[in-house]
Amino acid sequence: MPINPSDFTLVVHPGTSPEPVTGAIMTPIFQTSTFVQQAPGVHKGYDYSRADNPTREKLEHAFALLEKSRFGLSFASGLAAEQAIIQILEPGSTILVCEDVYGGTGRLFRRLFAKYGFDFRFVDMRNLDEIKSNINKNKTSMIWVETPTNPTLRIVDIKGVAAIAKENNALLVVDNTFSSPLFQAPLALGADIVVHSTTKYIGGHSDIIGGAVMLNSQELYEKLKFVQFAGGATPAPIECFLLLRSIMTLGVRMERHEKNAIKVAEFLEGHKNVRSVYFPGLKNHPQHDLAKSQMTGFSGMVSFDLKGDYSHVLAFLEKLKVFTLAESLGGVESLVNHPEKMTHASVPEDLRRKLGINSNLLRLSVGIESEEDLIADLDRALS
Ligand SMILES: *Cc1c(COP(=O)(O)O)cnc(C)c1O
Repeated sequence: MPINPSDFTLVVHPGTSPEPVTGAIMTPIFQTSTFVQQAPGVHKGYDYSRADNPTREKLEHAFALLEKSRFGLSFASGLAAEQAIIQILEPGSTILVCEDVYGGTGRLFRRLFAKYGFDFRFVDMRNLDEIKSNINKNKTSMIWVETPTNPTLRIVDIKGVAAIAKENNALLVVDNTFSSPLFQAPLALGADIVVHSTTKYIGGHSDIIGGAVMLNSQELYEKLKFVQFAGGATPAPIECFLLLRSIMTLGVRMERHEKNAIKVAEFLEGHKNVRSVYFPGLKNHPQHDLAKSQMTGFSGMVSFDLKGDYSHVLAFLEKLKVFTLAESLGGVESLVNHPEKMTHASVPEDLRRKLGINSNLLRLSVGIESEEDLIADLDRALS
C-alpha cells in the first residue's frame, strides 16, 4: 500500500530552514550547555540546554510535522519518553496495557512504576470487550496500545479503543514505533498521545537511542514539557542532528522496508520448513482487513515459527549471512532476533507462552538490501 505522496516531500523538508547567520543548509549541532545572557534573565530565547536547545527545537518541530500534530517532544530514549507519559498521571492511577507490549515497556511498568502505586492491567486488546470489562470508570486514566505488536504482529483497533477511552475519560496512548509515522496516524484515529522509539525506524541506522512524543493537547504538552525539563531525560544535540538527517530519508526507507518485507513474508509462507508466518500484510493474517483499514503500509517486521526444535533454530541462525543476529529493529540492515532469549526474556514466562513466544519463534527486521539477496540468504539457511 502506498505512502501518502506528499509525505515523501514532507520528510525531505521537515520544517528546517537555513541557519540565519551563515546560511548553512543543514541545522547546526548546537553543542553547548548554556547560553550567554545580556542581563540577568535577558537572553535570545535559550538559557540552558536541558530546557531548550536550538538543534532539539528543530527536531521537535520535525516530529510534530511527521505525526501531523501540534506538538512534538524528544527524549533520550523511547523508554524515557514512555516514563514521561506515565509521570503526568496521578499516583494510584490504573493503566490498561496491551498485553504484548515491547518487553522493555512491560519491564518499566511492572518493575519500576508499579512500585509507585500505579496499577497496570495487561489485557488482550484484540478483543474490545476485554478492554471494556477491565475499565474502572473512576480509576482507569490511561489506555496504552501498541500496534502492530511485538513480536507476533497482532493488530489493535485504534478507533475502537479510542471510543472506549473517550467514554471513560481515559487518555489513549499509541506506541507507533513499528509503523513509523508514514504507515499509521494514531492521532487521526482518535489517540491522544503518540510515542516512538526513534532508535528504530525514525533513526533508521542503528546508531542512536532516542524517543519522541507527539500530541495535540496544549495542556498535556505543557505537563510533558515540564517532565522533560524537570526530569532531564533529553537527547544530546548531536543525536538531534542525526535524527533530523535520518528523517529526510524516512520515505524511501519505509517504502523499501515494506516492499522487501512483503516478499520475505510471502517467501516464508511458502517454505516447507516454516510452520507459521506473522505479517499483517499477508491475506491470511487474522486481522489483515483491520490492518488495511488503519495502516497505509505494513512496515518491515516479519516473525515466523521454524519447524523442528531449538537445534534447528541455532543451525538456521548460524547459516545466515545477510541477516545479522541482534536486538533492535528498523535499521537499514536486516536483523534477526530470537524473542524468547533476547528481546522478550524479561516477559513473565506464562505470558510468553500465552503470546506464542516459544523457542522456535524468530523475528526479522527486514532491511533495505536487495530483495533477491535477502531471500537467497533465508533460503540457504532454511535448507
Ligand atoms: C525499542 C522499543 C521501545 C523502547 O525504546 P528505546 O529507544 O529502546 O528506549 C518502545 N517501544 C517499542 C515498540 C520498541 O520497539
